[in-house]
Amino acid sequence: MNEISSCYQIEDPRFGALIQKNARLQRIAAGFEWTEGPVWFADHQLLLFSDIPSDRMMRLTLDGHASVFRQPSGYSNGNTRDRQGRLVTCQHGTRSVTRTEADGRVTVLADSYLGKRLNSPNDVVVQSSGAVWFTDPSYGILSDYEGYQAEPEQQTHNVFRLDPQTGRLEAMITDFVQPNGLAFSPDESILYVAESGSSHDPGVPSVIRAFKLDETGRVLSDHVFATIDKGLPDGMRVDAAGHLWSSAADGIHCFHPDGTRLGKILVPEVVANLCFGGPRGNRLLITATTSVYMIAVNARAAT
Ligand code: MG
Repeated sequence: MNEISSCYQIEDPRFGALIQKNARLQRIAAGFEWTEGPVWFADHQLLLFSDIPSDRMMRLTLDGHASVFRQPSGYSNGNTRDRQGRLVTCQHGTRSVTRTEADGRVTVLADSYLGKRLNSPNDVVVQSSGAVWFTDPSYGILSDYEGYQAEPEQQTHNVFRLDPQTGRLEAMITDFVQPNGLAFSPDESILYVAESGSSHDPGVPSVIRAFKLDETGRVLSDHVFATIDKGLPDGMRVDAAGHLWSSAADGIHCFHPDGTRLGKILVPEVVANLCFGGPRGNRLLITATTSVYMIAVNARAAT
């Protein structure tokens, strides 16, 4: 376990209340190809995450013991848990979103829209209603690196909502170049979605957009919530107080609910995603390129 010297960048005094200034970033696991999709299992005190190009999902205890959870994993990417605690996974290889049942069976929740295959579901979040929201950019079909190269069948790269009652899949947002990470505000009235299209087109702004939703998931309005000034936004999480913690090329960027950037936690590898975890829920667990990092913060996941 390697400790990395302090690398807080405090840009607003309010950030000081959200971090533990004596806490240090630790690399708790290393040696992977591209880590993504962290999800914390408090009931087992372990982290699951994807190592996408290796076509596997790993389990990791916070003392740094890593083992294979699932391989092949369908080139899994983003993971979350539903309100019953079941694992929900985006899979590039199968171009699907799946749910792992309590007995271990895997159920396909979505793999097509309007009769055509999805692109490559990237990241996923489940509302308290049970509605499953996920993004469907084309990264997993651009080459054979993180899935299987293929021509896209969808006209657009959508943010989808799967209705928990009817099972109906609906494209709720259709104007992204490459929608990526997504997260809800604590009251679920706002959906944040990362635009990562600058990965292949530098003309696309690296922004996080905020969508105000009604109770049925319809978009009422949207605006640019924040701009990422280093690299692009990928995975993100919102804490219980509504602060948004986003991945970026230089680490984690923390934003006030009003969009003000409060500061950064600098990480020595490009960050793809993060989640809250640990025994008291106040550790940031960070998937960054070949490694997983951990740091204590003064914030917790929204429940
Ligand atoms: Mg992603």
